Amino acid sequence: MSRSIWFVAEHQDGQLHRGAAELAAAARAVGDETVAVVCSAPGGTVAQQVAPFADRVLLVEDPSLEPYTAGIWAQAVVALAKEHAPAAILLPHAPLGRDLGPVLAARLEAGLMTDCIALEWDEGLVGKRSVLRRKLVARERVTTSIAVATCQRAAFSAVAAGEPGTVETVEPSIDAEAARTRFVAMERAEMGEENITEADVVVAGGRGLGDAEKFGVVQDLAAALGGVMGASRPVVDQGWVAHDRQIGSSGITVRPKLYFALGISGAVQHVVGMRESDVIVAINKDPQAPIFEYAHYGIADDLFKVVPALLAELES
Ligand SMILES: Cc1cc2nc3c(=O)[nH]c(=O)nc-3n(C[C@H](O)[C@H](O)[C@H](O)COP(=O)(O)OP(=O)(O)OC[C@H]3O[C@@H](n4cnc5c(N)ncnc54)[C@H](O)[C@@H]3O)c2cc1C
Repeated sequence: MSRSIWFVAEHQDGQLHRGAAELAAAARAVGDETVAVVCSAPGGTVAQQVAPFADRVLLVEDPSLEPYTAGIWAQAVVALAKEHAPAAILLPHAPLGRDLGPVLAARLEAGLMTDCIALEWDEGLVGKRSVLRRKLVARERVTTSIAVATCQRAAFSAVAAGEPGTVETVEPSIDAEAARTRFVAMERAEMGEENITEADVVVAGGRGLGDAEKFGVVQDLAAALGGVMGASRPVVDQGWVAHDRQIGSSGITVRPKLYFALGISGAVQHVVGMRESDVIVAINKDPQAPIFEYAHYGIADDLFKVVPALLAELES
């Protein structure tokens, strides 16, 4: 029997989130068929936007589906899943998936794995997850007939857009009155430190910064570029910045449009967490530093000369 893996398409203001192509890749890695589930208000184009990344799109349209609430989306997705019995439903390990994933799993009586960094199929959905403050990688298998899993952003290389899959509009099975929560209001938050995996620009600092005080230049450059700050492991180990900033094999994976590596040598454990960034700029005073092998642009110089010059240039 062919294995159908679904992913829930994340979107906002009518635009598909770019992470959908990563979820499609995660689904394709373990399934025979990749199905995108789109929950939206009538008249949108999200189904058409996601179609090039999936074999099929199941489109549920109802005014109550936007703005998003977990209860109503869960009604729509659960009804579909009960009818079609996919092998797994994938969501981003982002606010959408962290909110909706447990609700889906509970209502489908399905096993849930969160924050997966890799997926495989071995008599069921098997996920790899970083555990114990990311010091170990656990491998877990879901044993229920439907699995629900959330996937870490940027852990899966996005699939390229292909021939658009077929879009099937399905009757919504929703009782909005039965929802136990109501949408009240949306307030746009400032781009904060928590958004490192979502950020278009990440400025990361390494041991080359010297000490916690000098690490301020990383923050300055990140602020000037509207990005967020990241770090290599020694910086975190020395307590200059919080653990959730750590990029690499025992930290998080990022794939921003622009990644700055300041005073970072380019050890493989760091590089695996950032090498998929669209554009990598490295500043390191050692011209032999391995980071230059991965950088699209490299400046072999003292970062304390280069960064202030960059900041002055950005200001003018
Ligand atoms: C199991 C395991 C897991 C690990 N996980 C991670 C991980 O998740 N993330 C991670 O980052 N590391 C991880 N590491 C550590 C990793 O191996 C490296 O030790 C670490 O990435 C090095 O950090 P760094 O580049 O900041 O420091 P260093 O390797 O010390 O490099 C500092 C760089 O700064 C440059 N520099 C110094 N002064 C200046 C200046 N004034 N201007 C410009 N450049 C300057 C130097 O030339 C040097 O290249 C892990 C290691 C192990 C064993």
